[in-house]
Amino acid sequence: MRVDADYATPVPHIYAVGDVIGFPALAATSMEQGRLAAQHACGEPVPDMSELQPIGIYTIPEISFVGKSEDELTRERIPFEVGISRYRELARGQIIGDSYGMLKLLVSSEDRRLLGVHVFGTGATELVHIGQTVMGCGATVDYLVNAVFNYPTLAESYKVAALDAMNKMRAIARLTAEM
Ligand SMILES: Cc1cc2nc3c(=O)[nH]c(=O)nc-3n(C[C@H](O)[C@H](O)[C@H](O)COP(=O)(O)OP(=O)(O)OC[C@H]3O[C@@H](n4cnc5c(N)ncnc54)[C@H](O)[C@@H]3O)c2cc1C
Repeated sequence: MRVDADYATPVPHIYAVGDVIGFPALAATSMEQGRLAAQHACGEPVPDMSELQPIGIYTIPEISFVGKSEDELTRERIPFEVGISRYRELARGQIIGDSYGMLKLLVSSEDRRLLGVHVFGTGATELVHIGQTVMGCGATVDYLVNAVFNYPTLAESYKVAALDAMNKMRAIARLTAEM
């Protein structure tokens, strides 16, 4: 069904949200579309729906991501660095026996902001929201490098991945300076 930016159909007093209007056709996005449509119908100011839509895939293991992928950034010629943390390197990962899980941060090598977060493994659909919040607030990878996370947690993977990305960016900066 065709709707405008406020989810109004061509019949002005009838709104449509959710699966009936197409992508992304998820419960979470459908609920938010409904809230925004109701606000508009009641004459309330309506903000644009956030571009940061998380995707959760409830497989075993879980998969979740928010923001850009490496393919998208490469296609759009946006320079980025990758920071990776593997659950097996974390105390919590070893405690729960998740040896395959990992978290990947895509960081802008220009302004150090987070461009994407990709998680695979236990709790992926929960963990992704930490990255979504950091991205939504426009924070840089430095926040994650300097933040203290509870130990032992899977959330700590953000700090490990941030350190990985930062170390790579520092190595490249050093090499570039020597050239
Ligand atoms: C197998 C499966 C797994 C999914 N897993 C996830 C997930 O993990 N996370 C996630 O975010 N999304 C998931 N989704 C998508 C999510 O369920 C939908 O995007 C969401 O339910 C859409 O909400 P909706 O209100 O648009 O439609 P619906 O939830 O389908 O609601 C439409 C309602 O209208 C009723 N209805 C239909 N025709 C009529 C009629 N003629 N008269 C009266 N009532 C009618 C239906 O009975 C239904 O209750 C999944 C979908 C499927 C099919």
